[in-house]
Amino acid sequence: MKSLSVIVPCYNEESVMAESYRRTKQVLQALTNPAGIIYINDGSSDKTRTILNEIAVADPQVKVIHFSRNFGHQSAVTAGINHCDTDLAIILDADMQDPPELIPDMLKRQEAEQANVVYCVRQSREGEGVFKKLSSKLFYRLLNAMCEVDIPLDTGDFRLIDRKVMAEFDRLKERGKYIRGLISWVGFKQVPFYYEREARIAGETKYPLRKMLKFASNALLYFSTRPLRMVMGLGFFTVLIGLALGIWTTLGKLYGFSKAESGWTSIITTIIFFGGVQLITTGVLGQYIGILFDEIKARPDYIIEEKKNFTKS
Ligand code: UDP
Ligand code: MG
Repeated sequence: MKSLSVIVPCYNEESVMAESYRRTKQVLQALTNPAGIIYINDGSSDKTRTILNEIAVADPQVKVIHFSRNFGHQSAVTAGINHCDTDLAIILDADMQDPPELIPDMLKRQEAEQANVVYCVRQSREGEGVFKKLSSKLFYRLLNAMCEVDIPLDTGDFRLIDRKVMAEFDRLKERGKYIRGLISWVGFKQVPFYYEREARIAGETKYPLRKMLKFASNALLYFSTRPLRMVMGLGFFTVLIGLALGIWTTLGKLYGFSKAESGWTSIITTIIFFGGVQLITTGVLGQYIGILFDEIKARPDYIIEEKKNFTKS
């Protein structure tokens, strides 16, 4: 029987923790597999820490990792995978948007297909605003169009991965980890699992617009160099326009059909247009340089302050 860990990142989730643990535990108890939970407290400033410590004292199957500060969702999941020693792992949100009740079916699917990854595809999303739904739909399609790796659409980090995938994931050194993309990139046998995403049971999203944008731009920058090629394309395009304009005005001067002297408007437009193109190009370059800078420093993904119920710490 394969052993299982459920990996749950938690950031200021005091209002959902108790219920989240109760529901997950109930599902795990009904399994025949040896199963535990790894909670990663991503530097919460509310009572999440205390609640998790209480759970860990009462239940030795629950492991807890406390970060030294907030490192972000992806770092928390990374720590969970890095510290997992079971045959299988399932990544869940603490807010129960990804229902733990689906775990038995995910395990069955893994068994039946002998899959290395069972990724969960949302067919619908309850309790999320039109903006979030629409922006995420658009984003996943844009990302797929831009990048070389096939990343399944409408799929979050909610998935089952096996030891093989975890071992390869542990070897990845990049700092800006876009986990759902990286797991696709790792390869092996990956099968979909369709589900309805539920509403948060309590509390509010820890992904405000600012974090969402950062998340999306990281995904794009780490998984695609196409923006660089696109600005080069833009450069060639504007050069062509420039050449055409040059030829037109020169001929116009020679044959007298151009009124170039009165061209204040066209000059200003051209200057602003080309200025804009250059700024965009520099901006895109800058984004990649920023990434190089971050990566070259090679700081760790996260810093752990304390671990609970790990035999070897
Ligand atoms: N999370 C985290 N660190 C953060 C932000 C979020 O560990 O900096 C956790 C959060 O507690 C939750 C999961 O990541 O378990 C997903 O966050 P959330 O539910 O707020 O995102 P949404 O489902 O709204 O996209
Ligand atoms: Mg959520």
